[in-house]
Amino acid sequence: MSETSRDRTGDATREPMVVIEGVNKHFGDLHVLRDINLTVGRGEVVVVLGPSGSGKSTLCRAINRLETIESGTISIDGKALPEEGKPLAQLRADVGMVFQSFNLFAHKSIRDNVTLGPVKVRKQKKAQADEKATSLLKRVGIEAQADKYPAQLSGGQQQRVAIARSLAMDPKVMLFDEPTSALDPEMVGEVLDVMVGLAKEGMTMIVVTHEMGFARKAADRVVFMDNGQIVEVATPEEFFANPRSERARDFLGKIL
Ligand code: ADP
Ligand code: MG
Repeated sequence: MSETSRDRTGDATREPMVVIEGVNKHFGDLHVLRDINLTVGRGEVVVVLGPSGSGKSTLCRAINRLETIESGTISIDGKALPEEGKPLAQLRADVGMVFQSFNLFAHKSIRDNVTLGPVKVRKQKKAQADEKATSLLKRVGIEAQADKYPAQLSGGQQQRVAIARSLAMDPKVMLFDEPTSALDPEMVGEVLDVMVGLAKEGMTMIVVTHEMGFARKAADRVVFMDNGQIVEVATPEEFFANPRSERARDFLGKIL
């Protein structure tokens, strides 16, 4: 394995799960994704860092096809991202996404929030979906709240439910876009703990976060973005000890 293949685009020792090649996207005159190339291997945890406005959310949204791209390709587990319709719904089910805002269904119980996708999209029987929801809620430490409604839970609890809801679809990849940024500080740890657990269990994860502790603990690789470009890809050890680019040094200087 050459250093280049591991560093630049992917970890050649892993089977590719998410392959992003030559992706470009504009918003009007703003070139928000500039020739993005990145391969995320099965079971790999990639943390995406970068200043506000650098294109991190747009990249996540493009992976889930919540944003269109103008050129390039994105594939998940060997399948190109479909444009629309049923194949797109299927693909979205394979790519779990957890946002800064928890986006739970306010008028549904916690349990129903978790079972809705499996019943509607995966066509599971309610009893089977309920059983799975119980075990997932246990895994994220929310089993006692299953019959409550989102507003009765703290932000940290709601975000853990959002993670359980994504996991209920048996996703191949989980995307996290600043999952702890809207939380009170005392609740950040409980959400990160769930994510660290997922990483240890071998989930393929792409995580946009400013939580450097998480990056150090859980990331296989760190991707640093600035101005729509991937500027640097490195292991967390390399990146934090010895960022190669001026822009990364500047970024770390501001946040650490
Ligand atoms: P990040 O997540 O790294 O903060 P974003 O991907 O959200 O960055 O945004 C990248 C750039 O694209 C920013 O300049 C932002 O203002 C702009 N942008 C994001 N979404 C839109 C949109 N829907 N329309 C126009 N500009 C957008
Ligand atoms: Mg963002």
